Amino acid sequence: MVQHEPPISARSPSGIPVRTCVGCRERGLAADLLRVVAREREAEGYELLPDPRRRLPGRGAWLHPVSSCLAIAEKRRAFGRALRVSGFLDISAVVRLIEPDRTENEYLEKNRHEHS
Ligand SMILES: [Zn+2]
Repeated sequence: MVQHEPPISARSPSGIPVRTCVGCRERGLAADLLRVVAREREAEGYELLPDPRRRLPGRGAWLHPVSSCLAIAEKRRAFGRALRVSGFLDISAVVRLIEPDRTENEYLEKNRHEHS
């Protein structure tokens, strides 16, 4: 049995849990969104961890696991805001999961691919 944290987010009328993507801000089924949590690092700041099994403790944020939503969330610094952490937040683990082809150097650059 999996222990779930108390539901704080809204549910759809059918009782299916829905979450809001921190990127596009659209609501989607929790099953379609990737949960991420922030973990404090020993050195400094925080790191963002993907939590596909939704088992990690603490406050979670939700993101469509697609590069377009990731890009928006990065640009808006939406992770830190959603997770209520300030200061340095290393999101590379999530970037690697969603965009395995992105190289380390590109984390620092804001690539804006505008797709419609
Ligand atoms: Zn999204």
